[in-house]
Amino acid sequence: MNADDLVVALCPVCAHTVAAPFFDGGAQPLATLGWPASAEDARQMARFPHDFVQCPKCTHVWNRSFTYDAVPYKNNPNRMFNQGSIWGGHLAVTRDLLLAQLPASPTVVDIGCGEGHFARGLAVARHGEGRFMGFDPNVTAESGAGLEFHARLFEPLHDMTIFEPDAIAIRHVLEHLTDPANLLNQLAWGAAAMGKDCWLFAETPCIDRVFETGRLADFFYEHLSHFTTQSFIALMENAGDIVELAHGYDGEVVYALAKLKLPDSMMDTAQRARKFAVTAEASRSHIREELDRLAASGKSVAIWGGTGKAAAFIHQFGADAARFPVVVDSDPAKVGTFVPGTGQQIRFRDSLKAQPADVVIIPTQWRARDIVAEMKREAIRADQVLIEHLGRLVDFSSGEHPYR
Ligand SMILES: [Zn+2]
Repeated sequence: MNADDLVVALCPVCAHTVAAPFFDGGAQPLATLGWPASAEDARQMARFPHDFVQCPKCTHVWNRSFTYDAVPYKNNPNRMFNQGSIWGGHLAVTRDLLLAQLPASPTVVDIGCGEGHFARGLAVARHGEGRFMGFDPNVTAESGAGLEFHARLFEPLHDMTIFEPDAIAIRHVLEHLTDPANLLNQLAWGAAAMGKDCWLFAETPCIDRVFETGRLADFFYEHLSHFTTQSFIALMENAGDIVELAHGYDGEVVYALAKLKLPDSMMDTAQRARKFAVTAEASRSHIREELDRLAASGKSVAIWGGTGKAAAFIHQFGADAARFPVVVDSDPAKVGTFVPGTGQQIRFRDSLKAQPADVVIIPTQWRARDIVAEMKREAIRADQVLIEHLGRLVDFSSGEHPYR
């Protein structure tokens, strides 16, 4: 393998960052959404790069030069072919697969539903018992015949708790998204937030046969993303547990039924992050109050450090230059520079020999032991040294903390 044969490109399925060139189709016009009005228009159509690469990790194939701006979805919704007896049979099989998991009166959301035939088919099969919704910003389908149509994007983090679906269907949509993993991640989190079991039925074209047959006509501009069975599984695993995976239409499509689910460890991390955020907000306002009291006490205060973490301390806790003018540093290279945002000029630590501070605040807890030793060595005296710990300013020598 020659490094020159590889390119840096982010896999839309598994986020691997190095890809192998797969098919350079040159510059070609849109193939299915262009709708030129005349032969002359057709010949004049803009050309776009067909730069397909493959992910060595999950085997996904995509056009790394694709851009959405080139595709006029608004004017020309993708017209999917839904007639034909083989296709009709496939639709019935997948519809029944999904219905078998659903309660008597289910709520189903079809994302990117097009004209809504799949959701309508579900409604008809259930004799209208339930709520069957289609979301699609690119078509103007009518509600009716069992379908409730929403002409907008479905936003899982927001909409799952509003509509409380028992199932989500996404058919022939994921291959049109530049970031399909994003939608599946959001569906899994939306389901977790709603706190109720939810099924996901997803289906895309499958290019497994491309490898056996070497055929190239699959690779046109509007089909930016091509799933193999392996990359489809990798994508679905973002959303939950795959219960059934199968192929239809003579192997040309792959579909899966999955239970939307997140690993417990991810739920735990999100919960801990939420807790940290709440505590951080309380800590910030508490330490701000402590600094307010310190400034009002009339004691002289020096802050040891004025860049990096020390500057972050000054910003977060409001140690402005008017109330906390003295900032010192051990590093002569920093002396004479200014604290970003607040503007205290950083002095050399020796300035504290001539003008001692009553209180020294050391924002970098992990360096406090060294700095206190340095103060002792240099005969820099202060009544108190304070560090930040667990949302409080604590006394370095007598307080409870792990940095001594
Ligand atoms: Zn990948």
